[in-house]
Amino acid sequence: MNVHAPILQHASVSEALNKWLSHDRPMLIDGRWEMAASGRTFDVHDPATGARIAAVAEGDAADVDRAVKAARRAFETGPWPRMTPSDRGRLIHRIGDLILEHADTLATIEALDNGKPKTVARAADVTLSADMFHYMSGWATKIEGRTIPISALAAPGMELVSMTRKEAIGVVGQIIPWNFPLLMAAWKVAPALATGCTVVLKVAEETPLSALWLGQLLLDAGLPDGVVNIVTGFGETAGAALAGHPGVDKVAFTGSTEVGKLIVQAASKDLKKVSLELGGKSPNIVLGDADLDLTIAGAANSIFFNHGQCCNAGARLYVHDSIYDRVVEGVAQVAGQIRLGHGLDEGTEMGPLVSSVQYDRVRGFLQAGRDEGAEFMFRQDQAPEGGYFVAPTVLTNTNPQMKVVREEIFGPVLVATPFKELDDALIAEANNSVYGLAAGVWSRDTGRALSVANRLRAGTVWINCYHVFDAALPFGGYKQSGWGREMGEAVLANYLETKAVTMRIG
Ligand code: ADP
Repeated sequence: MNVHAPILQHASVSEALNKWLSHDRPMLIDGRWEMAASGRTFDVHDPATGARIAAVAEGDAADVDRAVKAARRAFETGPWPRMTPSDRGRLIHRIGDLILEHADTLATIEALDNGKPKTVARAADVTLSADMFHYMSGWATKIEGRTIPISALAAPGMELVSMTRKEAIGVVGQIIPWNFPLLMAAWKVAPALATGCTVVLKVAEETPLSALWLGQLLLDAGLPDGVVNIVTGFGETAGAALAGHPGVDKVAFTGSTEVGKLIVQAASKDLKKVSLELGGKSPNIVLGDADLDLTIAGAANSIFFNHGQCCNAGARLYVHDSIYDRVVEGVAQVAGQIRLGHGLDEGTEMGPLVSSVQYDRVRGFLQAGRDEGAEFMFRQDQAPEGGYFVAPTVLTNTNPQMKVVREEIFGPVLVATPFKELDDALIAEANNSVYGLAAGVWSRDTGRALSVANRLRAGTVWINCYHVFDAALPFGGYKQSGWGREMGEAVLANYLETKAVTMRIG
C-alpha cells in the first residue's frame, strides 16, 4: 500500500483525517479492507483547486466478483438472515448514531471530495443520512405479509389458509452518483439492510471517500462480514460488471437517465429486478398571487442549492407575467450575492462543480444557450479561478425548443419563461419533458396550487417550498426519471419479494 505525504493544510482537516487520506484507500470486501486485485489505484481530486487529495483502489470486474460472492455467502449462510428483525433494527440504528458521531469528519470529506460547503454537508447530507438509517431501523420489525381470504377450492370441502410473506430479494448491486455521495449511499444501503438484503455498493469515481469512511462505521456498528461491500472504480468497468453480474438479484441505480438505460440493458440479460432514480428538468410554477419574498428565495434555492447538481432542481421557472420581471430580477439578485469559494472556507455558500467533465458540460450548455439566443443575467466574473466554478446563472428569452430548456444541465443554470394564464397550455408546457421527477408551485391560494400540483406529472411536488426531503417521504420519478421510489415505506418494495403461501388445514 502506498503512503503519500499528507497534502492538506486546512484547519478543518484533522490529523486523523489527513493521515487517513495519505494512505491509498482500499475497498470493503467481505468485512476486510482490500486493494484491487489488479493493484491499480486512481486519484481523487478537490474540485475547488484541482489538487489530488487521495488515491483509492481501482476496482474492476474481478473485485466486483469477489464482492458479489461475499454478499452471496453473507445472504445464504451468514448470520445476517438469521438475525432477529429487532437485532437487525438495533444495528441499523447504531449506524445512524455513528454517522452523527462522525458528522464533522464526514462533512469535511464531502466538502473536500464533492466541493459543497461543509456547512451544507453537515446540515443536509450528514443529517439526512443519519435520519435514513434511524428511520429505516424501525422498518426492520415491520415488514409484514397478510392473510388473504381466497375463493379457490382445490377440492370440495377443502379448507385452505393463504398468506403472503415479504422476503429479502437477495444480493443487491447498488450504483450511486457523486452529487450527495454519503446520502446516496444511505438512501440505498439503509433500506436494503432493513429488508435483510446484502449489498455490493459501487460508489461514484468522482467522490468515493465518504462511503469508505461509512464502511468503517458499518463494521464498527457490528455488521457481519460481507453484508455490505463497497467497491470503488469506474462506471464502465466496475459499474457495468456489477449491473451485469449473474450473482446479483437486483440492481438499484441513481444517476443519469443515459446510464440508467445502460443499466437496464446490462440487467436484462438475466432479468434482474431494477430500480432507477434518474434525471429531471423540473418545472417551478409561480402564480400571479405568489408571496414574492418567499418565492424569490425559494426559486433561487430550488436551482442553486448544491450548485444545481440535483436531479430534482427547479430548472425551468414559469412565472405569471404580472410579476415576471420582479421574480426574475429577484432571483438574479440572489444569484449575484451567493459567495463562491472552497467548501471548507467559512462563509462559502456555493462551491465548484464536481469535476472538469461537469464544468465543461455545463459551460457547453451555456454556450448552446448563447447560440440559441437566450439572454444571460449572471456574474461570471465572480467565479474563483483554479477550480471548476460556474457562477449561478439565469437565462431569459428562452423558448421550449432550446436545448437549455429541454435537457438536464445539472449546474446552477435557471431558465425563466413568462406565462399569461394558468391554463391547459401552461400545464402542458410544464409537463412537456421526458422527465417527471419533481415540480414546484408558488401561490397564496393553496387550493389553486394543489389543483396545479395534481395535474403535474412528477413524483414529488412542493407547494410554497422546495427541496424538502425526509426519510419518511417517497421520492422518485414518473416517465424517464425512473422506476420505483427511494425512501419512505415505498422503498421497501425495491428490496422485497412477495411469496404467497397456501396451506391445507382441513
Ligand atoms: P452523473 O451523470 O451523475 O455523473 P452517471 O450516471 O454518469 O451520473 O454515474 C452515476 C453512477 O453510475 C456512477 O457510480 C458511475 O460510475 C456509474 N456508471 C457510469 N457508467 C456506467 C455503466 N455503463 N454501467 C454501470 N454503472 C455506470
